Amino acid sequence: MKFGGTSVADPDAIGRLVDIVRTQQAKAAGGAAPVVVVSALAGVTDALVTVAQLAEDGESDRAAAALQALEERDLAVAAAVTSESRTRVLAEVRREFQELIGLVHALAVLREVSPRSRDAVHAVGELVSSRMVAAAFADAGLSSAWIDARTVLITDDEHNAAAPDMAETCARARARIAPEIAAGTIVVLGGFIGATANGVTSTLGRGGSDYSAAIFGACLGMDEIQIWTDVDGMVTADPRIVPRPRVVPQLSFAEASELAYFGAKVLHPSTILPAVSKNIPVRILNSRRPENAGTRITADAMPDAGRLTAIACKRDVTVIDITSTRMLMAHGFLRRLFEVFERFKTAVDVVTTSEVSVSVTVDDTRWLEAILDNLHNFAEAGCEREMAIICAVGENLRGDPTLFGRAVTALDRIPLRLVSQAASRRNITFVLRDSDVPHAMMRLHEAFF
Ligand code: ASP
Ligand code: MG
Repeated sequence: MKFGGTSVADPDAIGRLVDIVRTQQAKAAGGAAPVVVVSALAGVTDALVTVAQLAEDGESDRAAAALQALEERDLAVAAAVTSESRTRVLAEVRREFQELIGLVHALAVLREVSPRSRDAVHAVGELVSSRMVAAAFADAGLSSAWIDARTVLITDDEHNAAAPDMAETCARARARIAPEIAAGTIVVLGGFIGATANGVTSTLGRGGSDYSAAIFGACLGMDEIQIWTDVDGMVTADPRIVPRPRVVPQLSFAEASELAYFGAKVLHPSTILPAVSKNIPVRILNSRRPENAGTRITADAMPDAGRLTAIACKRDVTVIDITSTRMLMAHGFLRRLFEVFERFKTAVDVVTTSEVSVSVTVDDTRWLEAILDNLHNFAEAGCEREMAIICAVGENLRGDPTLFGRAVTALDRIPLRLVSQAASRRNITFVLRDSDVPHAMMRLHEAFF
């Protein structure tokens, strides 16, 4: 069970967390204990990022002031969620901050923050939050144990975006965590943090707590990995465009990956890969409404017959059209064309081609003029701004040929600029005028949900 920043933001949130875990453990066969992975309190990692930046700029006093404010917040929350263990936990929080204040002062004097030092600063949020949550369980009468994630999650030394050593981490998880949970003890670990084989603190990168949860869940062969957050799950469309979208009850990992690009930001699919590769379902749940079923992500989920899974859009993209009669029957043309985008490090999203023309969409237009200039060396090229991409995702697009037609029909008289369906055939992508997006999304949503 992973609880994100908003699910540990304040004493009330931590109170809800304790209730959620208690309820689940009571329901579990034989009172089996879950493993609990927590993020830093909401906003704390952002604040620590600022502290590291201030140190790098030599702003020692401002860094110290920011740390003091953080320490006060953590102490206040820790005091509010503990009783018997309060004195011990407050001392631990103070000690953690004392070390950090010394470290940050030294960094500010040197005005140098290496990736490794940055990890030492960023890790404090989870070190502190996990200690206070473990204590909150114990004080609420639940058997719990805090384990320093740095003694279990072993990573390479790519600081700030470290990769787990799965073999070593799994061996340690089985040795340290498994016996505790078998004995009915709730193990609490900080997400996001680990250590190199030499014991140097590392982090998995921003938002890495989901990744930690998936790693521990996979190592321990859990039945399910739960990501507790502040939304009801993945939804069928962006609520800013389609009022009252539905919660997607289940989706496949591949569908989640397609949707993630379009800013369905509930989780980053690569972070749950360890779970999916072991066939462990990942469930997204709302810690304010724990009775809801949430969204379940599995390797091979299928939506109900006749349905799509979700629709998503990306607004304000630019279409570039490239036409050349030289392309007719020629080889090597696409290579030349994409080399131009490569040269300007500009990602291309949708691509459609005919025999003499290619259209692509780009999101980043910083190098647009230069790209067009370069394309003009061997083709006609023009661009159109204020366009948008709508993507309809559904595993059953593969098996049900009528869905494609229904989607196009739903869009009726809305002019479509590009239409594409890639090899995976689990999505249909439309490129259209940005101003048509609300209308188009509403029509698709009505047709399929
Ligand atoms: N606290 C870390 C962050 O904000 C990790 C996480 O919350 O997943 O990036
Ligand atoms: Mg987070």
